[in-house]
Amino acid sequence: MFEYAPAPESRSVVDIKPTYGLFIDGRFVDPSDGGSLKSINPASEEVLAEVAEGGPADVDHAVRAARTAYEQVWGPMPGRDRAKYLFRIARIIQERSRELAVLESLDNGKPIKEARDVDLPLVAAHFFYYAGWADKLAYAGFGRPPTSQHSGPDPQPLGVAAQVIPWNFPLLMLAWKIAPALAAGNTVVLKPAETTPLTALLFAEICQQADLPAGVVNIVTGAGETGRALVEHPGVDKVAFTGSTEVGRAIARAVAGTRKKLTLELGGKAANIVFDDAPVDQAVEGIVNGIFFNQGHVCCAGSRLLVQESVADQVLESLKRRMARLRVGDPLDKNTDIGAINSAAQLARIRELSDAGSAEGAQRWSPPCELPERGFWFAPTIFTGVTQAHRIAREEIFGPVLSVLTFRTPAEAVEKANNTPYGLSAGIWTDKGSRILWTADRLRAGVVWANTFNKFDPTSPFGGYKESGYGREGGRHGLEAYLNV
Ligand code: NAD
Repeated sequence: MFEYAPAPESRSVVDIKPTYGLFIDGRFVDPSDGGSLKSINPASEEVLAEVAEGGPADVDHAVRAARTAYEQVWGPMPGRDRAKYLFRIARIIQERSRELAVLESLDNGKPIKEARDVDLPLVAAHFFYYAGWADKLAYAGFGRPPTSQHSGPDPQPLGVAAQVIPWNFPLLMLAWKIAPALAAGNTVVLKPAETTPLTALLFAEICQQADLPAGVVNIVTGAGETGRALVEHPGVDKVAFTGSTEVGRAIARAVAGTRKKLTLELGGKAANIVFDDAPVDQAVEGIVNGIFFNQGHVCCAGSRLLVQESVADQVLESLKRRMARLRVGDPLDKNTDIGAINSAAQLARIRELSDAGSAEGAQRWSPPCELPERGFWFAPTIFTGVTQAHRIAREEIFGPVLSVLTFRTPAEAVEKANNTPYGLSAGIWTDKGSRILWTADRLRAGVVWANTFNKFDPTSPFGGYKESGYGREGGRHGLEAYLNV
């Protein structure tokens, strides 16, 4: 095993303020009742900053600002001018990407290598991609294109979008929400997750730097109650939520019977299926990427490995050898593969489900690995001997924990893969194209990766079946959620 000297990324590139207000109507303002939350670095438990906790009056202020901006500025603005702002934001994100990546790593606990090489390039790509759509909405395939004989009006925006996002990809989820909404002509009020608000607040500064008209983007920080006040506000026309299925259900109930349009991106329990003809080394890389990328805090994580019985021993042996080489530790070290668990609460959940796995009879294995003393850490873990009835096969763990099940025939693989209330993603590893198509046709999952995993592209729609939610984000489909079509 190679020994790596520490290669820490410098945090001097970020300037974290001790306190942050709410970003409403183009300015940072104090919350009306003065509440605040602390955002901590999960790798050290150091308090990074205090951020405002928005109450109902603040949410109301933000929704009104968004309404005025929608009616007076952003809604009437020609698409080509909206595009200029979005391109400008995309370029500033690229210019400031090192700063954003370091801040994301500090606030979230994810390895700098991932924030720098995955999150930030995708964030910029989303803004570039949707900037390109802003003046071409008539050609997006909704309604009649202007070149047809009976040309109709351009598809219209919905108005004010309320957007609530989780902590696992704070800036990327912001981009998935804000870029299509603005391109389509809506204004937004976004609530970041309570444990990871800092990059959204830096994004607010980027909106100022880009001279984005006041009120087009509003960022209201806070916890669940702030989110609830936002989605229940009668002045919003559209609700977009990414987070847990439990909260998604509550939001669906709150929005039912109103005129608000709703999209939900919820949890997952994806099957990563390895057939006996799969190239083992590539499959092992895909399994590792599928479950250990971002500490497994990934809604589409390949958290259930379904491996064909005849190659199970070989695959598991290679997987264990590979896992023993994963470097767990300081997220700002450029060599780190697995960073910190995002919060004490999430660590407790991962521990509880892992303990349930052992108690229910599955065999637990982790490579020897030294975990830092301070902060929230969990060693990469696999469970073998897992059955469909075990909690760790059914419930989303949202951590670096893989449940391994075996199958004998392709039909059994499909049956086990679909035996879940979720349906967000799946992976297939095989040498045969026909087997990929046969299997993908039968999987009830919004995204199916073949001989790869966790591949993202702004042009490609993403979303779930069943309890993983409804609606699509990304691509042309992602515009539909923000247009009156
Ligand atoms: P969560 O549902 O607890 O929180 C998500 C957001 O909702 C946070 O901003 C939170 O403050 C807010 N919130 C909490 N209660 C609310 C309420 N009653 N009304 C409105 N907002 C409320 O989820 P989490 O723990 O932050 O995130 C993890 C979950 O997110 C996992 O289940 C994961 O699968 C899912 N997720 C899904 C996707 C996807 O695209 N499908 C992407 C990332 C994460």
